[in-house]
Amino acid sequence: MDVAEASDLAFGPDTHTVYAEWDGFRAWADSADLSETARMTFAATELGSPSPAPRQVFAIGLNYGAHAAESGFAEPVDLPPTFTKFASSLSGPDTVVTLPAGGNTDWEVELVVVIGRTAHQVGRDEAWDYVAGVTVGQDLSERIVQLRGPAPQFGLGKSFPGFAPVGPWLVTPDELADRDDLALGCAINGETVQDGRTRDLIFPVARLVSELTQVVELYPGDLIFTGTPAGVGIGRDPQRFLQPGDELVSWIEGVGELRQKFVE
Ligand code: ZN
Repeated sequence: MDVAEASDLAFGPDTHTVYAEWDGFRAWADSADLSETARMTFAATELGSPSPAPRQVFAIGLNYGAHAAESGFAEPVDLPPTFTKFASSLSGPDTVVTLPAGGNTDWEVELVVVIGRTAHQVGRDEAWDYVAGVTVGQDLSERIVQLRGPAPQFGLGKSFPGFAPVGPWLVTPDELADRDDLALGCAINGETVQDGRTRDLIFPVARLVSELTQVVELYPGDLIFTGTPAGVGIGRDPQRFLQPGDELVSWIEGVGELRQKFVE
């Protein structure tokens, strides 16, 4: 539905402003007219990121044991590697992505958390209360720029245009059968290449939010890419990367799917 119209502009029309008033929005939504007549039809290609203008985008590395192993690293103990995907790389769920020339572009399906309340130094037991909801993300990564040195360039290698598709929508945690155990995966041209479960996160959502807030303040609308399970292209023998003409479909159980086509 058109939230801005239905709420007489109490919320929206800019999506990101809704997160600043998330509790009020949830209360309004509970009493809103969600009947068939209020609903709009839309195509997935019309959708943008469910949080299109986050103040901060966090991305987490090595957060599944099998992925840490295929990457040649030990599992993180205190804090997992934390970096950013620059906001200019964000897109909606159904897109065409241009492959960087001469690059090795890889896939990483991830559960993405959207923050709903300002959070600083929150405990694990209360951390989910600061989460507006979850969505599907792809942490597309160009491995040559990311790893060419002298030190790794995670932020740049993962921030080409369209390298952070997110969506197709936000799902509030109460809609999920088990918010801490969701199947997630992705397939290239119909061949499944990643197939995991979020119960295998070394730092599950609550612990991750809590640990991040011991250092930084999180703001409504912020995104956290929580890490990818095993099966990325760089960890394969032989290595495999996305090619022009490939279609990548990424999914999370109970949330939805992303669809990216790749061109030269
Ligand atoms: Zn990642």
